[in-house]
Amino acid sequence: MTHPLSRRDFMKAGLGAASLAALGTRPGFVQKSFGKTATPRKILILGFDGMDPGLTDRWIREGKLPAFRRLMAQGGFRSLQTSVPPQSPVAWSNFIAGTNPGGHGIFDFIHRDPKIYFPVFSASATEEATKTIRIGNTIFPIKGGKVRNLRRGKAFWQVLEEHDIPATIFKIPANYPPVATRQRTISGMGTPDILGGYGWFRYYTTEPKEIRADIGGGETRQVYVIGNRIEAKLPGPVNTFKKDRPTAEIDFKVYLDPQNPVAKIVIQDHEFLLREREWSGWKRIRFSLIPTQSVSGICMFYLKEVRPNFRLYVSPINIDPGDAALPISTPEFYAEELDRKFGPFFTKGLPADTSALDNDVLDEGEFLQQDGFVLEESRVMLDHELGRFDSGLLFYYISSTDQRQHMFWRLLDEKHPAYDAALAKSYGGVIEKTYMEADAILNQVMGRIDKNTLLLIMSDHGFNPYYRSFNLNTWLRQSGYLQLTNEFKQEDLEIGFPSTDWSRTKAYGIGLNGLYINQKGREANGIIDQGADTDNLVREIARKLEEFKDPRTNDQVVLKAYVAKDIYTGPHAGEAPDIILGFNRGYRISFSSPLGRVPKDVLEDNLSKWSGDHMGAAEILPGILLANQAVKADSPALYDLTATIMDVFGIEKPKELIGTSIFKE
Ligand SMILES: [Zn+2]
Repeated sequence: MTHPLSRRDFMKAGLGAASLAALGTRPGFVQKSFGKTATPRKILILGFDGMDPGLTDRWIREGKLPAFRRLMAQGGFRSLQTSVPPQSPVAWSNFIAGTNPGGHGIFDFIHRDPKIYFPVFSASATEEATKTIRIGNTIFPIKGGKVRNLRRGKAFWQVLEEHDIPATIFKIPANYPPVATRQRTISGMGTPDILGGYGWFRYYTTEPKEIRADIGGGETRQVYVIGNRIEAKLPGPVNTFKKDRPTAEIDFKVYLDPQNPVAKIVIQDHEFLLREREWSGWKRIRFSLIPTQSVSGICMFYLKEVRPNFRLYVSPINIDPGDAALPISTPEFYAEELDRKFGPFFTKGLPADTSALDNDVLDEGEFLQQDGFVLEESRVMLDHELGRFDSGLLFYYISSTDQRQHMFWRLLDEKHPAYDAALAKSYGGVIEKTYMEADAILNQVMGRIDKNTLLLIMSDHGFNPYYRSFNLNTWLRQSGYLQLTNEFKQEDLEIGFPSTDWSRTKAYGIGLNGLYINQKGREANGIIDQGADTDNLVREIARKLEEFKDPRTNDQVVLKAYVAKDIYTGPHAGEAPDIILGFNRGYRISFSSPLGRVPKDVLEDNLSKWSGDHMGAAEILPGILLANQAVKADSPALYDLTATIMDVFGIEKPKELIGTSIFKE
C-alpha cells in the first residue's frame, strides 16, 4: 500500500482526536539550525511556576533563601502583575505574546463551544484525519489530521528568530504543540500523555474496595493472584486504524516472590524486579496498532505493596521523547537529542501525578518521590543547557513550585478544612522546602553566568489557600439567571448542562473563571440581544457577584467581577467570557461548575488535597520578579518582560506588544 505520508506522519495520522491528535506535514518545522548572531548580551530567564511573593519575602527575611537574597540585593525584588485570570496558560501566554489575553486569545484553561454549550480545552485542538481509505477492518489515513496550538500572536522567540537571535525555550507552558520555529523549543504544560489527555494513571489492586468506577485522572483495575502470578493489561491509545476503534493494549505479567516482598514485572522486552515501595524508572513500551504501525510511550511502575494486597501504580504513559508520536519539540530532533543524552524524561505537561495523590493512589511521600524525579531531571537538564548557553536567550521552566503548593497548602495552614495535624508533622514544611530547592537551583545558575548575562527570575502568579468552593452555575440558578428544565430538580450533575432550559437562561459559567451571557446570534439558543441589553446584564451580574457574601464567614466570595470589555484589548478581545470572576482569598470555583454542572449548594468546603490555588483576583495573586540589574518599574507586569527582551536585544518593539521595559522609569 502506498501513501503520500512518511512512516512517521502516517503513524501520527492514524491517532485520533479521542486519543492522540493526528498530524500531517509540518512545513514550518525546518530541521537545520539557522545562522545565529552572537549577541553581546545574553538573557537567562528562570520561570518558577506559582512562586508567591509573600512566601518568598518571608523566607528571604528568615534567611532560608540565600541566593534569592543575593539577587534581591543586586536588582531588587518586585511583585509581578499577573494576568486576568491568573491561570498558568493565560499568564504564560501574556509573557509569550507580550499582550493581555485579548492579544493571544487564551482566556482560561477551558473555553466553550457556544453552539453546544460544551467545555473545550483552550490550548490546543486536534482534528482526526479527514480522508481515509478502509480496507477490511483497517482504516488508512490519506490526508493527515492536525494538532493545533490555539494561542495567537507571535511568540517572543519567533520575533528573536526574525532578528537571528538564538533562543532555547525549555518547557514554557501554553506552547503545545510548539509553534513553528527554528529555535530550540520543547513543550511543557499542555502536552498530553499518549492517550491524548492531560495524564491518566493506572492502578492495579487485589482489594475490591479500592476499585472505583469514576475517578479523575486515572483508572483502578482489579487483578487476581493465581499461583503467585498476576496477568494484567496496560491500555494505550485508541486504535483509529481499526473500524471499531479498540483500545490498544499491552499484556504484562507480575511474578510475586513466594517469601519476600518483591515482584518481577515482565512487559514486552523488559523484565525487572521491584521491591515493595520501589520505583522502576522509565520503561519504554510500544503499542502495536496494525502490523506496520506502532506508537511508543514511556511509563514508570511503582510497587506499593506485594502482600496482603497487591498494589501497583503505573504512571500516565508519556510521549516517548526518543520517538515522539506527536510534536513536542523544535527542531523535532531536539527531544531525541535530549533522550539520547539523558534517556527517557518527563514529557507530559504538569508531570507530577496530582490526581494519584488526590485519589489516595499515591500517598504524600510517594507523590514527593515522583515529583522529586521531576525536579532532579529539571536540574540536570538545566545544567546541560547552561553548559552550551553562549548567545541569545535561554528560558527554563520549573513546575514543582506550583504543583506542590497546590497539594500541600492544607498542611501548612491550620485553618484549611483539609488540615491534618498528624500529616502536617511530616509534610507541613514541604512548601518551604520546595522554595529552598528553588533557591538551590538559583544558586546553581548564579554560579554559572557571566557579567554579560541578564538574569531574570519570574513566576506567573502567586498562591492563595483554597478553603471554599463556589458553584457559579448554582449561584446563577438561585439568582434567577439560569433555569433547569424541571423546576423540581435540585441539581444537574452531568457535564455540559443537559438539563438547562436555554430558552429561559440568561447566563452560564464554563471554565475556571468565565461567565457568559446567553447572547442571541452567538450562543445556539441565545435570548439576550447583543449590545445594550447584554451590557446592562453584564454590569448587573458583576455587581451582584461582588455583593455576594459567604453566609458562613460573611466574606465576599468574588472580590472582583471583571467586565471583559473593560480589561482586554487586542484582536481577540471579543472572544473572551463576558465576565471574569476574580475570587477572594480562600475561594475558588468548584470542580463541578467549570464543566457545566449545576450542583445543589452554592458553597462547599474544599476537603480535597488540592488545597492551594490561584484563581483569585489578579490584584491579590501577583508573581515574583528578581533581576541581577536594577529594576526601575514599580509595578511590572508579565507582558513588560516581553518588551524588556526586545529592548535588551535592541529590537524595535513589535506594535502588538503592550508592555514597557522594566529597566525604564
Ligand atoms: Zn497552578
